[in-house]
Amino acid sequence: MRLLSKLKTIVKTSTPSTTTSTSILKESEAIEMTPIFTLADRLPQLPALPNIPRRASARVRQLLPSVPFISNKPQLDILIIGAGISGIDMATHISRDKRLSKSLKKGRVAIVEKRGAIGGTWDLFKYPGVRSDSDMTTFGFAHRPWMGKKTLADAASIKNYIEDTAKAGSIDSLIQFNTNVSQIEWSSERKYWTATLVDVNSGNTRTITSRFIIGATGYYDFDQGYQPHFTGQEQFKGQIIHPQQWQDDIVYDNKRVVVIGSGATAVTLVPALLQPNPTTPSQTPQSAAHVTMLQRSPTYIGSVPSEDDSLNTLSKRFNLNTQTAYTLVRWRNILAQQGLYRFAQVAPTLMKKGLISRAKKELKGSDVDIKHFQPSYGPWDERLCAVPDGDLFKVLQTSNAEIVTDTIEYMTDSGIQLTSGRHLEADIIVSATGLKLQMLGGAQVIIDGERVQVNQRMTYKAVLVENAPNLAVLFGYTNASWTLKIDLACDYIVRLLRHMQQNGHNTFVPSSIATDGDTAIKQSDTVMGALSAGYIRRAEDVLPKQGDRYPWHVTNNYLSDIIMLKYQRIEDKWLKLPK
Ligand SMILES: Cc1cc2nc3c(=O)[nH]c(=O)nc-3n(C[C@H](O)[C@H](O)[C@H](O)COP(=O)(O)OP(=O)(O)OC[C@H]3O[C@@H](n4cnc5c(N)ncnc54)[C@H](O)[C@@H]3O)c2cc1C
Repeated sequence: MRLLSKLKTIVKTSTPSTTTSTSILKESEAIEMTPIFTLADRLPQLPALPNIPRRASARVRQLLPSVPFISNKPQLDILIIGAGISGIDMATHISRDKRLSKSLKKGRVAIVEKRGAIGGTWDLFKYPGVRSDSDMTTFGFAHRPWMGKKTLADAASIKNYIEDTAKAGSIDSLIQFNTNVSQIEWSSERKYWTATLVDVNSGNTRTITSRFIIGATGYYDFDQGYQPHFTGQEQFKGQIIHPQQWQDDIVYDNKRVVVIGSGATAVTLVPALLQPNPTTPSQTPQSAAHVTMLQRSPTYIGSVPSEDDSLNTLSKRFNLNTQTAYTLVRWRNILAQQGLYRFAQVAPTLMKKGLISRAKKELKGSDVDIKHFQPSYGPWDERLCAVPDGDLFKVLQTSNAEIVTDTIEYMTDSGIQLTSGRHLEADIIVSATGLKLQMLGGAQVIIDGERVQVNQRMTYKAVLVENAPNLAVLFGYTNASWTLKIDLACDYIVRLLRHMQQNGHNTFVPSSIATDGDTAIKQSDTVMGALSAGYIRRAEDVLPKQGDRYPWHVTNNYLSDIIMLKYQRIEDKWLKLPK
């Protein structure tokens, strides 16, 4: 009980919520909204468009048509790019803040999304079995309990959860779908951004202006995955599919499938292709005849229980409300995950031993060679893969599935010729070779007429971009649930904007040269540098860099990030806040 009350206290002081962030500002400091949020020009009234949801706020609807911009005041206060889990979290944080929500209610906050639906990753990927590899209590929003029992959830449930959150907060009405942001341009003279929006259906472009831009575009190219060229692939008579391009009409029933890869996608696909359970009710049940997982090198794979009912158990046993029980379970999982990650850093050999012995246990009595689960690198140098109830280990012990560690020599008309001399027969080859990383969804960034290479800049607290005024970019964790960091980043952005309102600042600019002359030095490591996974290494030319010192150095540590992003003073020697 004492532990529980202690935990409750921790949770009370740590639950990410906008009320917590406001509580650190004395009420007496609160001043009326500054002009940046109140003096913006009203756009001319325009006729309502028939295809716009009725719920959409009148203000956002006004912004949809191509309006020649004639004012020197921006049309929006905040433009969020992307309606994935991060974009919805950001808008929810704004809507839950007493002051910033006024902007939102006036239609001065908008989200642009290039897809036709909410959800980002969870709307895009359609391959069989697609699911999270994080537990949902840490991947879910801090402010909205994830009520499902499944530890790892399927894409459709996650998408529903994001959509429900957007609806509950009336965020859905702020979204302009099918709208790609191709460029954002800052003018120091006007002190606002101009975003070029492309209607993905018609190709028509228009512009919209905003005081702040928040990039919630994730970290990879939605149009294409990473697809290496395999020698001889043109000869292959079957289908080669990248999981990102998987569509419901792909027929794999009774076919021989080779899945190339050893990451989360491959370990999900192998059992799913053999289970005749359709991903969506509209799909016909299918089951492959045989599936081979072909990996160049092994990955650490750990089994996790497929269900976790702690939330219900806790709330019943201690008569807790759902949010409190959720927060406690979330904290338990955060601490366990952070503990495991730190343990892997300080005692990699021990951790390695533990993981391999657990894999051995899963495979006990089978003839599956343990070498396929013994990576050469240390645990958490690359992301660990979680499999529910050891489903991958189980399926590999049947005659319908196999794991092969080898390299591809070339492809033949009927399959893959391996360096070892073995030939894998296949009707379908799934190239689960990863993502193609991308910054800001490919949007060009221009500041005062000059094109900016964001990949050549550092990030401040891994939220703002060096020397980029009024621009925030939401980067999550790669060594924990992405969203844990997003939630903290959203808290920070809300605090920063409130601070600016209260003190009459209209611009923020993080500068690597501090007011006392201290200078942060750019490193080669990127903001996602906690892992050395292939796709992150490939991104060295894409992602922004880390600096050599705080707050330019990315720690990827949730506990220290709480202090930095939720509690530390907004003003410091690096952040310029001109009035
Ligand atoms: C199959 C898969 C499983 C994953 N599982 C996990 C997991 O379990 N745990 C975890 O932590 N991470 C996981 N990830 C990483 C995952 O992408 C993130 O955790 C999270 O979903 C990212 O959310 P996001 O909103 O930041 O970005 P995204 O989901 O990538 O959404 C970005 C949104 O921005 C839109 N957009 C992009 N560019 C533009 C533009 N120029 N103009 C307009 N709109 C734009 C996109 O259309 C998209 O809707 C997984 C990734 C994949 C591919």
